[in-house]
Amino acid sequence: MRPIKNPEEPLAIWSGQDRISDKQYSSVTAIIRSGGCSWNRCKICQYRHERFFGLDKSELVRLMSAQVNRVKDLIEKNNPEIVKIYTSGSFFDPAEVPEEIQNLIVKLVRGRILIVESRCDYINEDRLSRHVENIKGDGENGEIFVAIGLETTSDDIREKCIDKGLSFSSYKKTAELIHKTGGKIKTYLLHKPPYLTEKEGYDDMVRSIKEIIPITDLISMNPCTVQKNTHLETLWKQQAYRPPYLWTVASIIAQSDAHVTCDPIGGGQVRGPHNCGLCDSMILDAIRDYNISADQDLIKSVMEMDCKCKKEWEYVMNQEKPWSMPLTR
Ligand code: SF4
Ligand SMILES: [Zn+2]
Repeated sequence: MRPIKNPEEPLAIWSGQDRISDKQYSSVTAIIRSGGCSWNRCKICQYRHERFFGLDKSELVRLMSAQVNRVKDLIEKNNPEIVKIYTSGSFFDPAEVPEEIQNLIVKLVRGRILIVESRCDYINEDRLSRHVENIKGDGENGEIFVAIGLETTSDDIREKCIDKGLSFSSYKKTAELIHKTGGKIKTYLLHKPPYLTEKEGYDDMVRSIKEIIPITDLISMNPCTVQKNTHLETLWKQQAYRPPYLWTVASIIAQSDAHVTCDPIGGGQVRGPHNCGLCDSMILDAIRDYNISADQDLIKSVMEMDCKCKKEWEYVMNQEKPWSMPLTR
């Protein structure tokens, strides 16, 4: 376990721009260390290690309040329209984010847009209705987007390749509940978890995006990155996994019928979504522009570009064969 540098500081905090529907907003984003994800077993996830260990509740509340105070400072300085607060798992899990911290954050962001992430297990009507009511400032401004890591609409891929412990039907029920309380939904998809070929990863995202467009308010697709101390890292070190090509990421965005934001963490590096090294920054820049402008033509024009690695990518898309899992024991 690494010693924690300063437990009273967020793990990361920054300001920027975000797009919701057809409008751009100023934003502040903070990643806050919490009690940690109670599920704690997804094959691709490092965030679950970013937690306080063995604290009693009062100390957890004290350290999380101190981090929230840093967020408060940046909100007061920048006056953002959106505040995104990510913990190391689920905002609505009281074991991870005590209720007093949830209330403190909702009060702090009152009158703005708050985006938090949670597993479906902790989203209940009472708790969410209370927060949706309390986020409203004068003149009824203020709303909550609940981000859910659905990852894929395929229950098989979510279970076998990620071990997420969530079904598509639970996601759909939770989405109904969130809308019923007056909240909104942001859905995270994971592009190319382990054990999928490049083409299977592409097909999985194209189908998933189509299937969630009628359900969700926002879609964010995360191309898979090899994080430290994960099952995925073990596979990657055995040369049993390659992150997706940026060509694939761009081609999914280019053909989607909705604005699919995308943050290719580690883009252009061996552990992240990458091409040959020559064309990576051109595609990454276009994706960053598209996130804010929603200009899909920009991504389509990227797909018209050529590079020495494009033929390799086309070959991989056509020729890579799936690994076989035994059908019987
Ligand atoms: S991906 Fe989310 S649910 Fe899975 S272990 Fe990580 S924090 Fe927990
Ligand atoms: Zn290239």
